[in-house]
Amino acid sequence: MQPLDRSTIWPYRDGEPGDFYYQRYAHPTGVEAEHVLGQLEGGDALLFPSGSAAITTLVLSELEPGHTIALAEGAYYGTGALFRSLERWGLRFVEFDQAGPPPAGADLLWLEAPSNPFLTMPDLKAAAAHPARVVVDSTAATPVYLRPLEHDADYALHSATKYLGGHHDLLLGAVVCRDAEAADRLREFRGRTGIVATPDSAWLLLRSLKTLRPRLERQTATATELVERLRRHPAVEQVRYPGFAGMLSFDVQGDARRVESSVQVITNATSLGGVDSVIETRRRWEGDRVPDNLLRLSVGLEDVDELWADLEQALSKT
Ligand code: PLP
Repeated sequence: MQPLDRSTIWPYRDGEPGDFYYQRYAHPTGVEAEHVLGQLEGGDALLFPSGSAAITTLVLSELEPGHTIALAEGAYYGTGALFRSLERWGLRFVEFDQAGPPPAGADLLWLEAPSNPFLTMPDLKAAAAHPARVVVDSTAATPVYLRPLEHDADYALHSATKYLGGHHDLLLGAVVCRDAEAADRLREFRGRTGIVATPDSAWLLLRSLKTLRPRLERQTATATELVERLRRHPAVEQVRYPGFAGMLSFDVQGDARRVESSVQVITNATSLGGVDSVIETRRRWEGDRVPDNLLRLSVGLEDVDELWADLEQALSKT
């Protein structure tokens, strides 16, 4: 492994700063992790201390007061909540159905592939035909299943806290830019604002990316099998699954809170994308916009039959 360099300063050579001189602008572990992620996505990657920090920095760097973001309806509820809190600085946002054409007049299109927790996919062609710049939050797809820049998106964005980190031990975000000039602008703004990821986080990301593909392949296989079984279960009304990765959501007949609190192998916790399976009702966070019988399940690396036995016994409690 690349050594973890926690230095905040590096000596000048012959009186001149080199590539690394002050950690806020760049550090070797971060640059290495960005290089690896950039290769996976086919662009220029920048790390941020969380997915939310990546979203904040991108919109503050790229937009002006009065600009409008068109946000995919049903995208991660925290993204809309964040845009709402930026409205007092003059940013506006509207929501639209990402499976159709984006609204005219938007300055930035914000898509999510797939949306969390409704699992819809965006119409990437319709977005590319729109004059606005396009961001695809592909946290839940990962570059194993989607490389947004190949579909003419300008930015791919990740909560690397999820699949890229993959172990529930890392809070991190990333933006991958198609255009090198946009990446330079964002890097400059990141250095000025100090919204930078630590070397420790970057090092953990490097560790995690080595296993990204096998983790995702196994999570997909397990999730696909669980989706089939859930669809046949009499206590399950509806299952949503995009056909890849480990996130799915399903609606149960009866009390979803009893299901989440009855699991024993799966953990009743938030977040997604890790090696340990987690399940939760989303109503507690998202309010009325999600049905109160909706459960979001993120499938980890446990044995599929063990997970199914746990779900069956929990579903019997509804
Ligand atoms: N984007 C999506 C799709 C998410 O699910 C999340 C977090 O749940 C975020 C962004 C925000 O990322 P973070 O929690 O790393 O700030």
